[in-house]
Order: sequence, then C-alpha cells, then structure tokens
Amino acid sequence: MSQFMRASTRKKRDVMMEAALTMFMEKGYENVSVDDIIAATGSSKGTFYHYFKSKDAIISALYSKQIQFIQEWVKQPPSKVQSLEGHINRLFLDLASNIHSSPRLVRSLQALSLQNETVKTEEQQQLNVLSESLLHWLPEPRKIELLVCIYTGTVRTWCNQDDADLLSMMKNNLAWLWVGLRSSEPYAPLQVEPVPKEENKMKVAIIGGGLAGLTAAAYLSENPHVEGILFERSPQLGGRAFTYEKAGFTLNYGAHAIYGIDRHTLTNMERELGLSFSSKQVDKRKVFYAKHNQLTAAPLDAINLLRTDLLSTMQKVRFVGEITAIIANIHNLKNYATLADYLAESNADEDVKELWEHLVCSNFFITPEDARNVSGAVISEYYHNLFLSSKPVNYVLGSWAVITNQLKQKLTTSGRWEIALQEGVESLRYADRKFVLHTKNREVAFDKVIFAMPVQQVVKLLKGTAWEPFLSPYESNTATEVMVYDVGLSRVVARPFSYISDMDNKLFISDVSATDHTLVPEGGQLLQGIAYLSDRFDNEEQRKAYLEEKNLQMEALFDKHYPGWRDATAVKRVSKKAMVSSVKNIASNNLLPIRVENVPFYFCGDGCTGKGELAERAFSSARTAALSIVHEVEQALQKV
Ligand SMILES: Cc1cc2nc3c(=O)[nH]c(=O)nc-3n(C[C@H](O)[C@H](O)[C@H](O)COP(=O)(O)OP(=O)(O)OC[C@H]3O[C@@H](n4cnc5c(N)ncnc54)[C@H](O)[C@@H]3O)c2cc1C
Repeated sequence: MSQFMRASTRKKRDVMMEAALTMFMEKGYENVSVDDIIAATGSSKGTFYHYFKSKDAIISALYSKQIQFIQEWVKQPPSKVQSLEGHINRLFLDLASNIHSSPRLVRSLQALSLQNETVKTEEQQQLNVLSESLLHWLPEPRKIELLVCIYTGTVRTWCNQDDADLLSMMKNNLAWLWVGLRSSEPYAPLQVEPVPKEENKMKVAIIGGGLAGLTAAAYLSENPHVEGILFERSPQLGGRAFTYEKAGFTLNYGAHAIYGIDRHTLTNMERELGLSFSSKQVDKRKVFYAKHNQLTAAPLDAINLLRTDLLSTMQKVRFVGEITAIIANIHNLKNYATLADYLAESNADEDVKELWEHLVCSNFFITPEDARNVSGAVISEYYHNLFLSSKPVNYVLGSWAVITNQLKQKLTTSGRWEIALQEGVESLRYADRKFVLHTKNREVAFDKVIFAMPVQQVVKLLKGTAWEPFLSPYESNTATEVMVYDVGLSRVVARPFSYISDMDNKLFISDVSATDHTLVPEGGQLLQGIAYLSDRFDNEEQRKAYLEEKNLQMEALFDKHYPGWRDATAVKRVSKKAMVSSVKNIASNNLLPIRVENVPFYFCGDGCTGKGELAERAFSSARTAALSIVHEVEQALQKV
C-alpha cells in the first residue's frame, strides 16, 4: 500500500482486505478463492487485481506498510536523532497510528495468524524486521525483546477492547517500560513468591464405624490439618447403635437410653460438635421394681425413695446417707476392690445391700454375681455422677440415628474424610514410617490409626504383629451380654410403667414408646425386654437350658403386665446374646487404655477406659483419642 494512496482508495482496499480476512477465518484460507472475494465485495476482477497481485498479496499487503515504515526509520541519520528513546518511541507511535483506524482488520489478522501459516510467517517477518532495526540503534537484545513485547502486547490488548485508544495505550506502556530500561541497577535474580506446597495433612485411619469411630472422626474432621478414612466392615454405620425400620417401627439394635444426660459426654459433644437433638426423660414415677410379686417405686430420687416399700424408714435414712456420701465423694465404697468386699464389711441391712446390688445390675446390665465383682471405685464414680444428675434416664428422641447421621454429616461436609463401608480392615503393617492398612480393595498408608472396635476384635486383627504381646492382658476380657426381646405392638395394650424391673429374675421391660413416641406408627407401642445373662456354665446344654428359662421368664413378665401383647405383636426381634458392652466392667477384666505402652495406636470404644458406662464410654474414649491427635497436630505445627 503506497504511503500516498488517496483516502477513498485506501478505504476500498481496506474493505476488500477485511472481507477477504473474514472469509479466510470462516472457511479457511485455502478454501477461499479470488472469485469468492470479488463476489462477496460486489467488485470486479479488474478492481481486485488493481489492488492485489494475488490472494497471498492481500496478506503481504497488510504487513508491507509497517515493514516499509520500519525500514525508513532505521535509515535515519544519527544527526537527525535527538534522543534514542524519543526516536524509538516515534517509531512505535507511527506504527500504532498506521493501524489504529482499522481495529477490526487487525483483530481478524491476529486471529488468522493463529490458524494460517502464510499469515503467521508474514507477522513473524514483520517482528523480525522490527527487532533487527531496533538492534541497530540499541544493541542490547534483552531490551529489544522487551520493546517488541510491549508493541505486540499493546496491539493485542487494544484489539480486545472496544473503543480503546491505541496511541495513548502505547504511550503509557512505553513510559512505564522506559523506567525499567533506563535503570542502572544491576541485574538481580527474580523474586518469586514460592509456590505454596501441598500441605502435608496428617492422615488418620479409623477402624470401626460405631458410636466410637464416628465420634473420633467427627472431632478430627473439624481440624483442617487432618484427613482420613473411616473403615466399616458392615454395609451401614452405627455398629451396635444401628437403627432400622420395620413395619413402621424404628428399632435400635442397642437401646438409646442416656443415663444422667445433663452430665453426659453426649452433652459436651452437643456443644463442641454443634450437634442438635432433643431428649425426653423417662417418667420416674412410672419406674417400678417387682420383688416377690410386690410392686414398688424404684428409688431413683427423693420422692420415689419415700414411696418405695423396698426399704423400711430406718433403711431409707441409711440409704440416703449412702447417697449423700457418694455425692460428696466421701463414701468408703471407693476404697474397696469390689462391691462384694464392701458389702461383706458393711453393717447395713440386707435390703440396703440388695438395693445396691440391684442398682449396679440395672445400670451395668449385669447379673448379681457380676455386680458384686464391680470395683468399688467404678461404682462410686458412676453414682457420684448419676446422683448429681437431675435427669437419671432420658431417651434421645428419634433413636441413635439422630446422632449418628449428624456425626456422619460432619465427615461428609468436611471434604477431608472418606467413609469406606463394607471395607473391613484385614491386616496392618508398618513400612516407611507409615501404617499400611490392607482391605479387600486396597492398601493405604496412614500416619495414625485409631481402633474403634471391640477389644476382642482388635486383638484378633493384631495377631502375629509385633504389637500382639502388649495386648495380651486384654485378650481374655469378657463381654456383657444380654437377651433382648423387642416387640412392636399395633396398639397400646397397657401402659402401667415406663420401666418395670423384675428383681427376682433380673430382667426388665421398658415401654420405650411411652418416652419416645417417634419410634412407633400411630397408636403403636414398642416394648423392650432385657435379661441380664450369666456367662458361667459347665456345658452347652446348661447354657441352652438357662437361655430357654430366661425366655420363658421374659414372656411371663410380658403376660403379667402387658396382657394381649401376643395378639397385638406386629414386629418381634429376639436376640439371645446381644453384646451390650464389649468389656464387662468387673474387677477381673481390664478395660483397654486409649494408649497402650509400646503400641503406637489409639483405642476407643465401650471396652476402653473413659467416663461412664456403655455408649458413654464409647463417646468419651473416642473424644479423648481424637483430641490427643489434634493436640499432636497442633504441637507439630508449632514446631514448623
Ligand atoms: C441390647 C443393647 C442395649 C443397649 N442399651 C444401651 C443404652 O440404653 N444406653 C447406652 O448408652 N448404651 C446401650 N448399649 C450399648 C451401646 O450400644 C454400645 O456401648 C455402643 O454402641 C458401642 O459402640 P462402639 O463404637 O464402641 O462399638 P460398636 O458399635 O461395636 O462399633 C464397632 C464397629 O467396628 C466395626 N468393625 C469391627 N471390626 C472391623 C474391621 N476389622 N474393619 C472395619 N470395621 C470393623 C464393626 O462392624 C462395628 O460397626 C446397648 C447395647 C445393646 C446391644
């Protein structure tokens, strides 16, 4: 394009070039002929060839004016150049002013250079000429590279902005660039913010998805520096607190009574983990004991104690004295190895002694023989807590699922925890300073492992490992087992009690739905019978006969207080041997500590040391285990 071409001629030529470029982009350079361009612009062959020698010439023409300009610029004699900086700026601004009235054309050209080799070569040639010419005046290649970058970068940015002013953009950018180019500061290595390293999170495995495993995982899920996997071998979470629906009834495998909820670990968890649930107190006035066919109020509080026929007035005074001493923590029961040892030396009447024994049976779910074998310190601590509570027995409304679902939700929403169902851990080894867990699906390495399963199963899993000998003191622990007799009735057949305990046969029936109405269909009734079981038998025959007798005693208790229950039964679940606590808390057993010397793992569950009995020990031991790990993480972070 001649420098002296008339404006109208230049416009016609630009229109042709622009139309040609648009077609090149839409159809591809190779697929557009000169005839297509002529047809699209409504011109003639004569006109086309007047401006361009060929199709390629359209492209070359687009760049030739700029190249010509650069070549003229480089030839200027130094005598005419007042300042090098001004001379270079003049070139850049002239190049910019040549194109600033055709933004669409430049934009099309830029787009086409990405797909067409001819255009790309032309563009590259123009930039080469620019670099070489600049080098002629400023023989510093790095500075020239920057100048060329500023030119191409500014043109590209201008193309993408509607209504932008190329000349002022170029002036601005050059002004900033020259600040750096003029500087005499020596070259210094580039300062770069280090790429943040992928944080090394502590990886924790929890084996067992019962109340303990879920609790530990929920606490750990709150810490952003910990991630992990909760392994559960069965298809659902909850373990023995597993809940299921049948014919409109909600059945808990293990009951959901909370003893002393206002002082219970679950209340700490409610606050610390942000859980939300309601509970309802079992009607204390409807808790009865049956002894030698006589019904009497269970001495749960002062009012019931006054009403009970279990004790004479003098005995009541004595029992109140004992309760007061327990509350004040001055009862000497805590100094006796077992309840039996204390009772042997106590000068209390037999009825008071029997009451103690029966209380322990019902709170620990054990037989009188076992109750006598519970340590004095354990009983003192348990009742110190329970007698101070204003809510001796409550039910979590809606079953354990209300708790387990929220714990699970915490893991899911943290985004750092995986729940691996039907993935039992089969073995464990130590390699490369990690604990490698093996399941049927995979092998995964962890920094820490929490065992949240019954002690007996922990011992089995660690058989043959270096840690086995340290767990042998816990191997022969016995579990607390009961017979469970759940019946869902289509109607309320009778509602004389919320709880009736047969002191002679050591079994009880709870009218669960009298407290937690959410578990039954409209008008229904859910009764749970539980018999404490002895585990001392000479042979299998004897054990079977014993269980059969318990079954008959249980049905007789139902017949006596809930006549018509047999006909109204809609759902029935009888479990002749359900494990209530994985370690019976008697003096001859050893609860598993949360940390065992020489063993690098953490342990939690209802067979571990912790506050309370049953589910509370699962919660409290899990909370302690998780918080110890959190503490370790915090200490490690402080060192970093
Ligand atoms: C009939 C009955 C009535 C009860 N009533 C009450 C009550 O009223 N109040 C109360 O507080 N408590 C009650 N309990 C006790 C309470 O249910 C338990 O104390 C509590 O559920 C124990 O929880 P846990 O997490 O320690 O153990 P579990 O629930 O036994 O959980 C352990 C989990 O580990 C899993 N597991 C085992 N081995 C592996 C492996 N290798 N890999 C992966 N997973 C594995 C198991 O499948 C299980 O889910 C009752 C229990 C029963 C049976």
